[in-house]
Amino acid sequence: MATETMLAVVKTHPERGVDITRVDIPCCRPHEVLVRLRATSVCGTDVHIYNWDPWAQARLTLPRILGHEAAGEVVAVGADVQGIAVGDLVSAETHIPCGHCYQCRTGKPEVCRHLKILGVDTDGAFAEYVALPEVDVWKNDPTIPLEFTAIQEPLGNAIDTVLVEDVAGKTVLVTGCGPIGLLAIGIARASGATCIVATEVSPLRRQLAERMGATWVFNPLEVDIVEAVRAETNGDGVDVLLEMSGNATALRQGLHALTQGGRVSLLGLFGEPVSLDLNTEVILKDVRLYGITGRHIFATWYKAARFLQSGLLDPSPIITHRFPLAEFDQAMDLIAHGECGKVLLLP
Ligand code: NAD
Ligand code: ZN
Ligand code: ZN
Repeated sequence: MATETMLAVVKTHPERGVDITRVDIPCCRPHEVLVRLRATSVCGTDVHIYNWDPWAQARLTLPRILGHEAAGEVVAVGADVQGIAVGDLVSAETHIPCGHCYQCRTGKPEVCRHLKILGVDTDGAFAEYVALPEVDVWKNDPTIPLEFTAIQEPLGNAIDTVLVEDVAGKTVLVTGCGPIGLLAIGIARASGATCIVATEVSPLRRQLAERMGATWVFNPLEVDIVEAVRAETNGDGVDVLLEMSGNATALRQGLHALTQGGRVSLLGLFGEPVSLDLNTEVILKDVRLYGITGRHIFATWYKAARFLQSGLLDPSPIITHRFPLAEFDQAMDLIAHGECGKVLLLP
């Protein structure tokens, strides 16, 4: 197998762009499984690497195959693999925990101190094959559509962000309707939120927010979000804020629109440090802020699979574009313009 080659999206040079080239098919070490990829999806992390921004420059060792949101079929298993067999349909958990640190040993591997990330610290999934450690493999129910199984990783971000607080019978504000914000709207709806207000600057993404079940969708460039939320919540403000934009203005608007004693889940990553008036926005308002990293391995994956199996969540509106691997640059151009939902790469 080692002498055979495959097509892959590889960051070879320390500059913007990628090479789409043939490389050796990875060998499958004793604790790994070899997966023939069938659907992958593009994430903001891949865009940072493509653009070779300061974070990517500091983090990556080259060459590196990109990609971490993935689904495929197992074609080989290493000698020590016990729970996965050839022919299984699987997806990848992006976070590869060490298994030995304090966090790993106390049930929080998602914040492992020596965390490796697929497609960042190890070769990723924008290729025809990927070798995955068994500990990071999730076996899929074959009745779930293949494309849905490829987006369970960002779906897990959305699930943890929504379900860390009780949303049933509550009013919810989602700031930012990128793919994860859109999935969060669907999960909040499926989990019994009665009023979901969403904010987003992109017209296409506002339409998708409506299709995912938002009650009200506003453009923050045109509407006073705090006034609009008060109007839709009898002047009370929302019970729960889900911050999914990574935009400081959206966060501040969300905190203003939150009711006294409200709850906040923060998923969006901010480009720079954010200053907040903690006294008025958090402490004296009795607000709880919760930071979300990744997914709970694998508790969140069971929930993701059940939302998809049951039909309570239909993510199909979110998948707006599909490209072959060879057209990765076109996918990057589309994402740069923002008029898309989730973009799939089909090896
Ligand atoms: P995305 O960039 O596609 O979506 C963010 C959306 O916010 C965009 O659609 C953008 O138009 C919108 N936005 C920007 N300014 C806004 C404003 N003022 N008001 C309302 N909306 C605004 O990203 P995504 O893939 O959906 O991910 C969401 C966020 O979560 C990103 O910040 C990403 O970096 C972060 N993230 C965090 C984790 C984690 O583990 N914490 C994991 C994955 C992604
Ligand atoms: Zn991702
Ligand atoms: Zn660890």
